[in-house]
Amino acid sequence: MLQNVDVGRNRLDAYRATVGDEVLQDLRELAEPLAGARVLHVNATSYGGGVAEILRSEVPLMRDLGIVARWKTITGTEEFFAVTKAIHNALQGGTRGVTQAEWEIYEQTSARVAAQMEEPYDVVIVHDPQPLALPHLRGRGEARWIWRCHIDSSAPDPEVLARLMPLLDDYDASVYTLGSFAPPDVSHGRVEIIPPAIDPLSPKNIDLDEHLAVSIVDWIGVDVARPLLLQVSRFDHWKDPLGVIAAYRIVKRRMPDVQLALVGAMARDDPEGWQVYREISDAAADDPDIYLFTNLTGVGNIEVNAFQRHADVAIQKSLREGFGLVVSEATWKGTPVVAGRAGGIPLQLADGVGGYLVDSVEECAARVLDLLADPAAGRRLADAGRRRVLHRFLLPRLLGDELRLISDLLERHPGTPQALAAAGVSGEDRDPVCGMRVRPDSELQHAYHGQRFRFCSKSCAREFAANPQLFLRTASRAGA
Ligand code: UDP
Repeated sequence: MLQNVDVGRNRLDAYRATVGDEVLQDLRELAEPLAGARVLHVNATSYGGGVAEILRSEVPLMRDLGIVARWKTITGTEEFFAVTKAIHNALQGGTRGVTQAEWEIYEQTSARVAAQMEEPYDVVIVHDPQPLALPHLRGRGEARWIWRCHIDSSAPDPEVLARLMPLLDDYDASVYTLGSFAPPDVSHGRVEIIPPAIDPLSPKNIDLDEHLAVSIVDWIGVDVARPLLLQVSRFDHWKDPLGVIAAYRIVKRRMPDVQLALVGAMARDDPEGWQVYREISDAAADDPDIYLFTNLTGVGNIEVNAFQRHADVAIQKSLREGFGLVVSEATWKGTPVVAGRAGGIPLQLADGVGGYLVDSVEECAARVLDLLADPAAGRRLADAGRRRVLHRFLLPRLLGDELRLISDLLERHPGTPQALAAAGVSGEDRDPVCGMRVRPDSELQHAYHGQRFRFCSKSCAREFAANPQLFLRTASRAGA
């Protein structure tokens, strides 16, 4: 059996004060025809990282809407998760590759996992590469299959991609976070662009009184009277924790009072975590103003919430990134962000809202110093970022996008993957860069090779114009 994750309950009505009646009404209408549908989300870990964060919030809301939604995780040895992390890194452009012996481990565990999946489902949503082989090895059955890829796979290791591509033939649709994230020669079935979202009511993001936030950070042992920089992320080289320490050291030369907290989760499917933890610990050993906390020593959701509220600047110096939920989490709490120009981060910080995008340690330090010198400007940036999160990156929007896709797939004849990639739920106008729904009369348009594309913002229009080919592989139905 796959492991069932017990998610407790959540009520859609609780979101009314944040997103308004109309959004809730839309969700109820979308969900009505899906009442009783059996939807399974499968991933590799119930804690640590963005996918677990999203499913913990989304699955109970699906259930509140009458869908029989479940979340299950696959099990595997440390060896298996070392292989899947190598595949993850290769999809992100890492060059280490995956050996034949490692592929055999991947295939053996995948076969065992496939044999464990018993119940019938109407829709199975498979997250990331760890459970990717499930429909191939188990058979599609009556279900519609969706691969939800959270990784920027735009420049993958070609050999690793070539091994994974045949596994995608068994899927009805694959979903990427951004239009540019799909692999270069994606030719499997239908392709959707759906950015992730944060849950404004989860303990991680719920409103927390300023005094309470300060008390929590104080209790943990950080000096609340001195400036604080923060990075919250899995301990992963792509999140560049050593680069964050290097930027902090530059800042500290100008502002000796400054402190840095690195808060990192250990995820079950990420065996590199401890090694990176030790590297950070060594790098920080000579400086009592660098704090290192993990979910294993009690720094959980409420504590992360308090840190993200209390910090003067949230850093996310990623070199590669999926979406980077932590960016929206920080701006939602009114904290400006300095972040690497990677993956989904520019989407969250586009057009000068939320904070600054940086490309180097020096630039990171300079932007942090700017924000420390002018906190009022930082607050204005973060407020604009919060408005962006409200309109685009909250859970009800994500739920709506997924319900539309599920409805659309269930209306189709099973087992007929399309020959050509296609994006955009039928009948909808979508921005081919970020997947947002756009009004047909949007003035932000771009004509390319006889097709007209519409955009949600100037930054998306600019990004498309700079390199239309990057988005065309997922845009055949987004344009009209
Ligand atoms: N996170 C956490 N505690 C930690 C580190 C990370 O709760 O010590 C959470 C973080 O708040 C965010 C998620 O893990 O919700 C990370 O998601 P993101 O998309 O930023 O990165 P991923 O880990 O998926 O690459």
